[in-house]
Amino acid sequence: MSFNGKVVIITGAASGIGAATAHRLAKLGAKLAIVDRNQAKLHEMADELVVGGSLKPFLIVADLTKDGERIVNETVKHFGQLDILVNNAGILDANTLIDFDVNAYDRVMDTNLRSMIVLTHHAIPHLEQTKGNIVNVSSVAGINANEKFIAYSISKAGVNQFTKCAALTLAPKGIRVNAVAPGLIRTPIYAQLGITNEMEQQFYEQHKCKYSMERVGEGEDVAAGIAYLATETFVNGIVLTIDDGYLLKH
Ligand code: NAD
Repeated sequence: MSFNGKVVIITGAASGIGAATAHRLAKLGAKLAIVDRNQAKLHEMADELVVGGSLKPFLIVADLTKDGERIVNETVKHFGQLDILVNNAGILDANTLIDFDVNAYDRVMDTNLRSMIVLTHHAIPHLEQTKGNIVNVSSVAGINANEKFIAYSISKAGVNQFTKCAALTLAPKGIRVNAVAPGLIRTPIYAQLGITNEMEQQFYEQHKCKYSMERVGEGEDVAAGIAYLATETFVNGIVLTIDDGYLLKH
């Protein structure tokens, strides 16, 4: 598997799954545009990539909910082309239909779904030129209902349907569109819920038994799936679960 010469945008690349994907694709020779709103963490990531012997990435500090067009334009201006778009960034919010908070709902839908569609829209002409492809990051919560995170679950179901619609729309242009749907992955996303480190570790311990091998996944597990989908040319419109059999048990 090689990404030599391929220009890849990864959103949410400063942390978790996005960072693991950046490391994997950089090792495989990709030229990366790494995007995040967290400037300090994005710079740390870029330094880690260079120290690890990878090509210097192009950094784009941006808020996906506002800057979709700029992200694409700056990438193409810098590298001259775009081959792969990894729509990874996402947020989590613990809201139910009973404790419903419409602002939290809007924030989650805007970040996880609307901004993904806008960014993809702006990338189309460039991906058509390179016969490139798109990998979206969904979740098992978009397949099995997770009523404790209602906006998140709905947003990820939307990502799955968006992936399939986009695959049908863009196939005539030679652009493939797929998604990964991870199960529980150890990343800083859970800290957003305002829990302590100890509570986070307890959360992982409690949920491990839902997985066939009883382990929590790592960002690298998902990065491997993203790399596969970005290179396998006979795969289009799928949502690849990366969940250690979670959906078999639920
Ligand atoms: P993370 O919090 O570690 O990383 C997400 C990154 O996205 C952060 O660096 C954050 O700054 C960035 N980001 C968020 N909103 C942004 C915005 N508006 N503009 C720019 N950057 C923004 O989370 P993660 O766990 O690595 O999640 C990555 C993706 O994987 C998300 O879409 C998430 O829903 C999905 N996912 C995660 C898990 C899990 O268990 N961790 C499971 C299934 C799916």
